[in-house]
Amino acid sequence: MSNWVQLTTAADPIEAGFLRGLVESAGIEVQLRSMELWGVAVEIYYSEGARPSLWVRRADLERAHRVLAERHQTGAGPPWVCPGCGEHLAGQFTSCWRCGHVRELRQ
Ligand SMILES: [Zn+2]
Repeated sequence: MSNWVQLTTAADPIEAGFLRGLVESAGIEVQLRSMELWGVAVEIYYSEGARPSLWVRRADLERAHRVLAERHQTGAGPPWVCPGCGEHLAGQFTSCWRCGHVRELRQ
């Protein structure tokens, strides 16, 4: 079990399920843990409250963090077209990967 490390905690079971789906969609195996921490690691239970936590294999941790980071950037805006080179870019990119043009948020 030492192979598993905690990725993050969720505010509630609904968010936990959503985050789990997100990480799993990237091909990463996820464990959801919550109340079973009772009696196993009480100090963790108290420091984290009753929030469910997501665990991934140590080898997947960095990639899983990236998946979650991208999630926070999603919603930054709609897809956009680079005025510098015409490249079509997804909403989470703040600059053009092709020519480096920085997105102008006022449009
Ligand atoms: Zn560009």
